[in-house]
Amino acid sequence: MNPFKERKKILDEIGRISRLAFPSAGQSENNSIVTCEKCGHKDPAEEIKNNLYICPECGAYMKVPAYDRISMLCDEGSFREFNKGRTGYDPLDFPGYENKLKQARSKSGLKEAVVTGTARISGHRTVLCVMDPAFMMASMGTAVGEKIFLAFEYAVKKKLPVIIFAASGGARMQEGIMSLMQMAKTSAAVAKHDEAGLLYICVLTNPTTGGVTASFASLADVTIAEKGALVGFAGKRVIEQTIGEELPEGFQSAEFQMEKGFCDMVIGRKNLRRTIGKLLAVHERGVR
Ligand SMILES: [Zn+2]
Repeated sequence: MNPFKERKKILDEIGRISRLAFPSAGQSENNSIVTCEKCGHKDPAEEIKNNLYICPECGAYMKVPAYDRISMLCDEGSFREFNKGRTGYDPLDFPGYENKLKQARSKSGLKEAVVTGTARISGHRTVLCVMDPAFMMASMGTAVGEKIFLAFEYAVKKKLPVIIFAASGGARMQEGIMSLMQMAKTSAAVAKHDEAGLLYICVLTNPTTGGVTASFASLADVTIAEKGALVGFAGKRVIEQTIGEELPEGFQSAEFQMEKGFCDMVIGRKNLRRTIGKLLAVHERGVR
């Protein structure tokens, strides 16, 4: 068995399911028109963006680019980015990885799969990390792990809450064991933040899977799932093949995970900003 081939199969399956549940906003015929993958409706990109990447025709949630997610959420002009230029490296000299990184950078306009910084939400100061599936399915390699780690470290120093918008195909296979190490590294950072008595909110967006689900995305004080998001560890087909049983309908949906106690609430995109603002306000009152 070739573990890389198996891993690719899992990632392809996660990508396929996630495209069905959450059409991509990147399917544009040109830069100005976006076609909804679910219903085929076409709209100017600007209008889709103003509608929070929700299809006005069928209501499907499209994937949100990291900087647009930040502007949807934060008080205007309040975001200050950390480590913007930080990039990963190719520790295994993995065939084709350098090229994949180049393509991901040009497709997403990002240096890596997570954007981190500080911001204000409804007037409350917080550290914010937003993962972007347009960058290699927001897989976690050394750069993502390091940026998340540094964000938590800053939050501990400044006594700030942390909010993460998680999205991921899992650990980045091209970095092998170095990417798996990020699970322990980010989990340790969450634990230090927790020991300092600070609030951590994680919003699970579509799709959140693999090593990210199995590390920092499952360790928050308050875990919110965005409506309809795919949240899980391995893909449905892989589990069915392993256990030899059929899994129930809607398995790994945000709503299913809520029912099973994996998250605290499922929130529609339009209500996220208000809900997070309220949680930050309650917490601030609590620690005063
Ligand atoms: Zn649609």
